[in-house]
Amino acid sequence: MGMINLSNKDLTARVKAEAKRLGFDLVGVTGPEPPPHLDVYHQWLARGRYGGMNYLSDERAVIRRSDPLQILPECKSILAVAVNYLPEDHQPVKKTPCIAAYAQGDDYHDVLIDRLEQLAVFIETQVGRSVPHRKYTDTGPLLEREFAQRSGLGWIGKNTCLINPSHGSYLLLAELLLGVQLEPDDPFERDRCGTCTRCIDACPTSCITADRTIDARLCISYLTIEHKDFVPHELREKIGDWLFGCDICQQVCPWNRFSLPTKDPAFQTRAFLKPPDIESFLNLAPDSWVDPLRDSPLLRPRRRGLVRNAAIVAGNHRDPTAIPHLIELLMHDREHLIRGHAAWALGQIGGKNAKIALKEVKQSETDPIILAEIEAALSNL
Ligand code: SF4
Ligand code: SF4
Repeated sequence: MGMINLSNKDLTARVKAEAKRLGFDLVGVTGPEPPPHLDVYHQWLARGRYGGMNYLSDERAVIRRSDPLQILPECKSILAVAVNYLPEDHQPVKKTPCIAAYAQGDDYHDVLIDRLEQLAVFIETQVGRSVPHRKYTDTGPLLEREFAQRSGLGWIGKNTCLINPSHGSYLLLAELLLGVQLEPDDPFERDRCGTCTRCIDACPTSCITADRTIDARLCISYLTIEHKDFVPHELREKIGDWLFGCDICQQVCPWNRFSLPTKDPAFQTRAFLKPPDIESFLNLAPDSWVDPLRDSPLLRPRRRGLVRNAAIVAGNHRDPTAIPHLIELLMHDREHLIRGHAAWALGQIGGKNAKIALKEVKQSETDPIILAEIEAALSNL
């Protein structure tokens, strides 16, 4: 590739236009300086609020998050992009079970990383040379919202989401670290939450903290996606109808009142989730559970997490039609995580058949954790 002479301003304008063409709704630029609120992040880690997400606290990740030059020493600019993920059939009315809006379609990691790579190729073509770069969305060692805010895309709301005044917060963020100089945008300085506290008031587990972080250990989104183990008893009812993720602190945000759905095919609701039903999730078969969820974010908790969550939702929903499925899981599932939560759900729903099944399994059960779940469930009936 030969060198091409293009001013920073022209190059930036072309890159932004191409980002829009590739489907990014918002695009901004900032420099490679460390993120502004590192102290808050370090305190969050020190208080253990990351729960079991140890990848957030390992030393190398912490160093990399503190300075983009640790990731890409040649970094001169960070391109921050955002894409609206609200599917067209998104309705504020509740469906049971509830699934976070971002998870209705394809896995955004693959979709966005592929688009960022296309953008990097475009930039290389424009400058006529190869450009060192790194691309990230969500899982990378970057404090994404900080860079999005510094690129002018919006402010970080009390619910910890990046909020754009026109698009609201149903946005996926991604970044391209670039070894090329682009014109930086002004940061979004204003805090437009004002005196509003709706998200804090609406959070079922009160896990939104005053320093605009979330105690992940209590957050439904964490519990239903990242948490691999038994859900603490005191949090199960608070999970309500949420089978995967939680959108409550976004649903109540006034800045999302006018959020428009996207036409992007990648984020439209897949057939299996139209509408989602508890029974299908309780019945995910060990050898074929992936089929209806291929390329979906719902794969992350694996079958054991999804069926565990479905049992919690069924228990909270007090739906007697779930009883035969829960009895089958309690008696025969090979995952003790699932069996334990099935016992709990039967104790919540109650009824003669639930009680008979719990008593029957209790006779032969040897696993102390399942036995404790069965006894707790029976004491409820
Ligand atoms: S996602 Fe749900 S549980 Fe987590 S902070 Fe928001 S409202 Fe609370
Ligand atoms: S609900 Fe209110 S406080 Fe919470 S993020 Fe939205 S505007 Fe800010």
